[in-house]
Amino acid sequence: MNAVSNVLIVGGGIGGLCAAIALRRKGIEVDLVELKTEWTVYGVGIIQQSNVVREMAHLGLLDAYLGAAYAFEDVAIYTTEGVPLARIPGQRLAGPEYPANVGISRRALHKVLSETAIALGVGVRLGLSVERLEQDASGVAVLFTDGSRGRYGLVVGADGLFSKVRGLLFGDKYQPRFTGQSVWRYNFPRAAQIDHLANYQGPSGNAGLVPLADDLMYLFTTSYEPGNPWMDEASLAAELRQRLAGFGGLIGELREQITDSTQVVYKPLEAVFVDEPWYRGRVLLIGDAAHATTPHLGQGAGMAIEDAVVLSEELTAGGSLDEQLRRFMARRFERCKFISDSSLLAGEKEIQRAHDFDRIGLVKRMLEVTAQPI
Ligand SMILES: Cc1cc2nc3c(=O)[nH]c(=O)nc-3n(C[C@H](O)[C@H](O)[C@H](O)COP(=O)(O)OP(=O)(O)OC[C@H]3O[C@@H](n4cnc5c(N)ncnc54)[C@H](O)[C@@H]3O)c2cc1C
Repeated sequence: MNAVSNVLIVGGGIGGLCAAIALRRKGIEVDLVELKTEWTVYGVGIIQQSNVVREMAHLGLLDAYLGAAYAFEDVAIYTTEGVPLARIPGQRLAGPEYPANVGISRRALHKVLSETAIALGVGVRLGLSVERLEQDASGVAVLFTDGSRGRYGLVVGADGLFSKVRGLLFGDKYQPRFTGQSVWRYNFPRAAQIDHLANYQGPSGNAGLVPLADDLMYLFTTSYEPGNPWMDEASLAAELRQRLAGFGGLIGELREQITDSTQVVYKPLEAVFVDEPWYRGRVLLIGDAAHATTPHLGQGAGMAIEDAVVLSEELTAGGSLDEQLRRFMARRFERCKFISDSSLLAGEKEIQRAHDFDRIGLVKRMLEVTAQPI
């Protein structure tokens, strides 16, 4: 018999939904509350690398997921002018018949995850959060923001960067901080040569092109934005063109087609990292609530998804809940810290314009680490 028979997940993003799916597949009852009244996500894409494809297989989602994604193998690195510098072959961690990496639109991913969670019997309630959590030896009494109540063996805070559950556990000890950089994204029809993840080393920030579908790719670039300035939405296209001014090659060609400010997705980058353990008693943080970092290595959601799978494994592997959560931490902490620290380092080196920084070496190391069993 499991130490925990029912779980409340707070937050219906990538981490919360994957945790709900993983726990339901192990026979644990799951309720999920999501703050948004309309369960939507913004319309850009996300890179998911070989370790994520492997975990999608563990979640039993691979076919639906690959059906909604653009599968690719290699990651290539180019100069500012588009001259190839390195090509890192993909690792087929889910098995030889499955691709190494994918690009997927966030909306398509959300559709696969939310439909699967509901089909598996997760009790989803929207427009709702937790107001108060009171623990005793056998469970957590939860007061929801609509005044309703529940009782759970475990509460999982998967409520992202500005986690309310983190605040309920640790007060204001952990606050997201602006890293100095922002990310800009813009969708384009896929260029035929972008059948892999293409990274371009810029003069003061990187740019990249990610295939999402046969007819769709997105461009991203990072920029140094001291003081986190307010951006006028009407001028976002011009601002993005200006951030890409130093690039030649394909990025330079695409730059001239960035004309619609409503299609520019601008995001200042913020990070937070909670010291271990990420739990107190029967309340645990996963995903960005515990370890939000920058997207320089494309692994933030990957770490949230791995958290979800490992949690479901440990909760059904015997022992007391405390032993289970300790084993969870032992498998997650160093790996997430490596990703968090390395992603932040890559951003800092861009800000410093440290052209001698071995970015290719860092990407290779990340691929080695994430290929290891968890
Ligand atoms: C610009 C950018 C690009 C990125 N690109 C990549 C990439 O290519 N690959 C990758 O792996 N990662 C990427 N990431 C990181 C990735 O988006 C996050 O790591 C991932 O979304 C974390 O998932 P999560 O479920 O923990 O949090 P979130 O996705 O933030 O989900 C949290 C959910 O909780 C809900 N919520 C919030 N507060 C409450 C509350 N009080 N009560 C109830 N619900 C609440 C939110 O509405 C949301 O639905 C990127 C991040 C950024 C900023």
